Amino acid sequence: MIFTLGGVPLPVLARARVYVCGITPYDTTHVGHAATFVWVDTLARVLEHVGIEVQVCRNVTDVDDDLVAAARQRGLSWHALATQQTFRFEEDMRKLKVRRPTFEPMSREYVTDVIFLARALLDRGVAYERGGTVWFRGAGVAEGVGLTPEEVQALLVASGGEPADRQVEHPADVAVWRRSVAGEPAWSSPWGDGRPGWHAECAAMATSVLGLGIDVQAGGHDLAFPHHAYSSAMAEAAIGAAPFARAHMHVGTVRYRGAKVAKSTGNLVFVDDLLQAWPGEVVRLYLLDRPWSQGWDFDEDALGFAATRLEDLLSRAGGLVEDEAATAAALAALAHDLDVPRALRIAEEAGGGTLRTIGKLLGVL
Ligand SMILES: [Zn+2]
Repeated sequence: MIFTLGGVPLPVLARARVYVCGITPYDTTHVGHAATFVWVDTLARVLEHVGIEVQVCRNVTDVDDDLVAAARQRGLSWHALATQQTFRFEEDMRKLKVRRPTFEPMSREYVTDVIFLARALLDRGVAYERGGTVWFRGAGVAEGVGLTPEEVQALLVASGGEPADRQVEHPADVAVWRRSVAGEPAWSSPWGDGRPGWHAECAAMATSVLGLGIDVQAGGHDLAFPHHAYSSAMAEAAIGAAPFARAHMHVGTVRYRGAKVAKSTGNLVFVDDLLQAWPGEVVRLYLLDRPWSQGWDFDEDALGFAATRLEDLLSRAGGLVEDEAATAAALAALAHDLDVPRALRIAEEAGGGTLRTIGKLLGVL
């Protein structure tokens, strides 16, 4: 069976390497994060079901300016806050039946890799140093996405990963390594005390953990640019091979009250609250029963419908008989760009063993 994601056949061999950008652990998990990690878990489950060995790498961005600011506000050290919030996140994932990834690197453990990456980019002439910060030349990255320079600038600033004092040659340049001042996390480097830039952290972790090329780069839709575009461009420039990722899984944005669910705006639906009110399987079914790449509006009432749907599925999943043709058809739907709604409809109609196989595979039964 050929598995395709966004039109790209996956993988070439019986092994797939998936890198998903994990959390910055300074706040409780929101529904947008949950959707991303539930979808990546489902991708891995389905690939494994068709005989592919899957390696999932989900990082923790525990070196981050927002994290440092949040910790300072609460009177905690940044690593204490990161540890506390990572624990809460793992609890949420467990309740949503998201399996532990194969690798869970923390940014703080890959600082040396970022220094090597910065050196490689400097050697290749695609980066330059100014006052202790190493900047990656990003003009080509920005041109490649078809955005206007103003849009690129707005997205770079909104992504929160860039310092205000941008002593750059080009507005699309981003920090691979940046100088730290007193009170900021700092490691020694050939350019003085500093810390990794966000895009460089993921480029370093993905290549260090999974190798010089990956099958899927995954994350929320808003990570496509600048984060994924820049981390891929850095990896490609350092390694000298492209593309870094064969396919992308940019999970559709979740909206609430008409606006994107985001930490930066405070328009939030916390997974913790949903899991207080509903079993994990109901929330998981609600997140999965839709096309993964499209944006959607969160609706509390729809969770009630998901609960009723789950009860219906459970009542139809009895009996020993498995309709093999129906199971194969449902699996074919999943192999075609993870069409969960279609697979569920087929399995629901067949009931019995087919519904159990598909429901368990999706982690909802
Ligand atoms: Zn990332």
